[in-house]
Amino acid sequence: MPDGLANNNTRPASSAAPRAEPMIDPFGRHVSYLRVSVTDRCDFRCVYCMAEDMTFLPKAEILSLEELDRVCSAFVAKGVRKLRITGGEPLVRRNIMSLFQNLGRHLDTGALDELTLTTNGSQLAKYAGDLVDCGVRRINVSIDTLDAAKFAAITRWGKLPKVLEGLDAAKAAGLAVKINMVALKGVNDDEFDRMLEWCGEQGFDLTIIEVMPMGDIGGEQRLDQYLPLSIVRAKLQERWTLVDIDYKTGGPARYVEVKETGRKLGFITPLTHNFCESCNRVRLTCTGTLFMCLGQEDAADLRAPLRASDDDAALFAAIDEAIARKPKGHDFIIDRRHKGPAVSRHMSVTGG
Ligand code: SAM
Repeated sequence: MPDGLANNNTRPASSAAPRAEPMIDPFGRHVSYLRVSVTDRCDFRCVYCMAEDMTFLPKAEILSLEELDRVCSAFVAKGVRKLRITGGEPLVRRNIMSLFQNLGRHLDTGALDELTLTTNGSQLAKYAGDLVDCGVRRINVSIDTLDAAKFAAITRWGKLPKVLEGLDAAKAAGLAVKINMVALKGVNDDEFDRMLEWCGEQGFDLTIIEVMPMGDIGGEQRLDQYLPLSIVRAKLQERWTLVDIDYKTGGPARYVEVKETGRKLGFITPLTHNFCESCNRVRLTCTGTLFMCLGQEDAADLRAPLRASDDDAALFAAIDEAIARKPKGHDFIIDRRHKGPAVSRHMSVTGG
C-alpha cells in the first residue's frame, strides 16, 4: 500500500458496521485522549531521550499512514476527543501532512475537539501554515535551553536558530504554542527565569518536565540529570508570582498562572508527585502497540487485528481488552538504588 492518503478516504458506512463502545477502564476513568507516535525516527538525539547510535525499526513494522488514520478513527469512534500526534519527530515522517489533512475531518464533524502535535520545531517553518489549514490550533514545542551552544550539546544534532525560525512561523500562522522544557541538573537549571521571561515576551505557555527513567541512554546517568521540580518551583517563586489555577488536562501537569506575564506555567512531576488517578489517556506507537500507561511495560498489539480484517470489529475488541487492563498508575523511581530505566523503551517509542 502506498504510504500516503487519498483525499477522499471516508470509509464506506455499512449497515452491519461494528459497534464502537466508549472506553471506561477498571477504575472508572473515561479514556478520551489518544497520543500517537507516528515514527520512532528523529532528526535530534537529545541526550536524555536517545542514545546517539539508535537502531530504528524496519519499515514493514511501521503502520502506514492509511493504517494510522484507520486506527485513530476507530479511537475517535470509541470516544476519543483529543488526538496528539508525536514521535520520534512527527514532522520528519514522509507525507505526514496527508495524515493531518485526513484526521481533520473528525474536527469538521465535531467528533474530535482537538488535533494537536508535539514537535521539536525543526520543520515548523515549512509546515506551520499547513497544520493550521488541517485544523491544528495549538502545538507543543520542546526547547530545553535558549543558549545555542547548549542546545547543540543537548540535542546533539539540533540547531536553535532553525527552531526559533519555526516558532516565528507558528506565531505568524496563528498557532498557540506551549514550550516543553525538561529540567536537567547542571545543564539548564540556571535558565528557568530566562525561559519564563522569554515565553512571556513571545506569548507562549511553558511546561517544565522532570526527566523520566525511560530507555537505556548510553553513558548518561539518570541520577546525574534528575532535578526535582519542587526545587525549581521554590526558586522561581523568589522572583515570580505563581498563582495556582484550576486548569487541568487529565495529565500529570499541574498549572499556575505567572502574574507578571499572564501566561500559564505547568509542572510535570511524575517522580515527586503523580496524578494517575485522573489519567484519561492511552498511547499508540508507530507499530500499532497500545500502551495503557507511560510508566508500565504492559501493552496490546493492535496491528494484528487491524491488518486481519477490513472491518473494525476485531480492532474494537482488542482495544476493549486493552482498556480493561489499564493499570491504576506507574511507579517511576530515581534514587541511588534505581539508576537504570524503570521501563526499557525510550520516550521516542511512546512519544512523551
Ligand atoms: N520530537 C518531538 C519533541 O521533541 O517534542 C516529540 C517526541 S519527544 C519524545 C516528546 C517530549 O518528551 C519532548 O518534550 C522531550 O523533551 C520529552 N522527553 C524525552 N525523553 C524524556 C525523558 N526521559 N524524560 C522526560 N521527558 C522526556
